Amino acid sequence: MQTALADFIRSSSAGREADAILRSCVHCGFCLPACPTYQLLGDELDSPRGRIYLMKQLLEGEPASDRTQLHLDRCLTCRACESACPSGVRYGRLLEIGRALAETRVPRRVSSRAQRFLLRKILPFTHRVRALLGVAAAVRPLLPHSLRAHLPAAAAPHAALRRPGRIPAWPRPRHARRVVLLEGCVQPAFAPEINRAAAQVLDRVGLSTVRLGGCCGALAHHLSAHEESLAQARRNVDALWPHVEAGAEAVVVAASACAAMVCDYGRLLRDETAYAQRAARVGALARDISQLLAAHAEALQAPLAAAGAASRQSAPLRVAFHAPCTLQHALRVSGVVEPLLAAAGFSLTEVADGGRCCGSAGTYSLLQPELSTRLLHAKVIALEAGAPQLIATANIGCLAHLRSGTALPVHHWIELIAARLTRG
Ligand code: SF4
Ligand code: SF4
Repeated sequence: MQTALADFIRSSSAGREADAILRSCVHCGFCLPACPTYQLLGDELDSPRGRIYLMKQLLEGEPASDRTQLHLDRCLTCRACESACPSGVRYGRLLEIGRALAETRVPRRVSSRAQRFLLRKILPFTHRVRALLGVAAAVRPLLPHSLRAHLPAAAAPHAALRRPGRIPAWPRPRHARRVVLLEGCVQPAFAPEINRAAAQVLDRVGLSTVRLGGCCGALAHHLSAHEESLAQARRNVDALWPHVEAGAEAVVVAASACAAMVCDYGRLLRDETAYAQRAARVGALARDISQLLAAHAEALQAPLAAAGAASRQSAPLRVAFHAPCTLQHALRVSGVVEPLLAAAGFSLTEVADGGRCCGSAGTYSLLQPELSTRLLHAKVIALEAGAPQLIATANIGCLAHLRSGTALPVHHWIELIAARLTRG
C-alpha cells in the first residue's frame, strides 16, 4: 500500500512503525472472512482492511469524524485478522497507534468518557472489584438477568469440581524451583479458585509459586490510556524483578489476555532506559499457564494418566473448550490445552468456528453490548452443539461473558486439571 504520512507523525517511532505496517498490507481481503464484526455488519469499514484504510487516512492527516472512531471502537482487537493474513500485517499494533491518534482528534461524549474512566478506575483494582461484587450480590434480586448472570455466585460449580475433586488450599512452597504467579486484578475477586488451581498443578510438576497481585495493565491499554497502562507495567517490572534476580524460572499467568500483555512488556517499555532491559527480561519469562505446562508435559504425564484412568471407569465428562482470542491469535498457542484435558480423562466435544471471538474482548462487552451479545449467542450455540456437560476456557473475561449466555457451568480449564489431579 502506498502511503504519505503527515509531517506531525512521519518521523516519530510510532509513525515509522505504522508506515511499515501500512505498506505491508496488499489489500487482498483474505482477512475479511475471519473478522467477526465484518461477518455481523457486512460493512467494509468494520473489516480489518477498512479499518486499515481509516487509520491510513488518520496518519496522513485527513480529517477524522465520529464515524472513524465508531469503526475503530467496534474492533474487538481479537486479532483473528492477523492469523488469517498471508502478508503478516501487524494489525494489532497498527490499531494501538490508530486508536491513540483518534483519541486526540475526535472528542468523545461526556458519557463515553465517564464510562471509560470508571472502568479504568475500578476493574484494575481487586479490592474495588470485590466491593462492587459485594454490593451487586446484596441487590442481586433487583438486577436485570443480564447483569445477574455475570455475578460469580450465579454459577454453581460442576460436580467434577466439588468433593472429592475439590481444589484444596494454596500449596505450601516445597520445591527449590520457583515461578511467580501473577494473580491479576479481576480474577482474584471474581474466581479466586483459578489461581489456586494453577498453583496446585504447578506444585505437581515440581514448581513452587510466589504470588504477586496487581493488574497487568491490559485494561488501560485497550482503553487507549497508555500512560496508565505503562505505569502498571513499570510497577509490575519493579515488583517482579527481585524474584527474577532470585532465580524465578517464569512469570506465569492463568488468564491468557494478561499473559499476552506481560509478554509484550519488552516492546512497550523499550524506549525507557530505566526499564527497557528489565522489561524485556520479564516479557521473555512471561507464560500463559498452558505454555508453561506444555513445557512440563513429561512431569504431568504420569499423574494425568492415573487421573484419566480413574475417571474412565465412569462415563467421561464431555467438555467444550473455547480458546480465547488472546490464546490463539495473540500468543499463537493452539492444540495445547485439549490434549491435557483428554489425558485427564475428559472427552472434548467438537466446536465449529473455533477461531471466532466470544464477544468478551476485555471491556468490549460493556462498551459495545449489542455486538458483543450477538457474538456471545453465536459462540454459545457453537459450544453447545456437541452436547457438552461443561464449558472450559482460558481467560477470566471469556469465562464471565460465557457464563452470562449459557446454563452450563463454565470454568477455567486449569480448574478441571487441578480437580482431577487432586482426586488422583
Ligand atoms: S491485512 Fe493482510 S489479509 Fe487483510 S487485506 Fe491486508 S494484506 Fe490482505
Ligand atoms: S482484530 Fe478482530 S474485530 Fe478487529 S479487525 Fe481484526 S478480526 Fe476484525
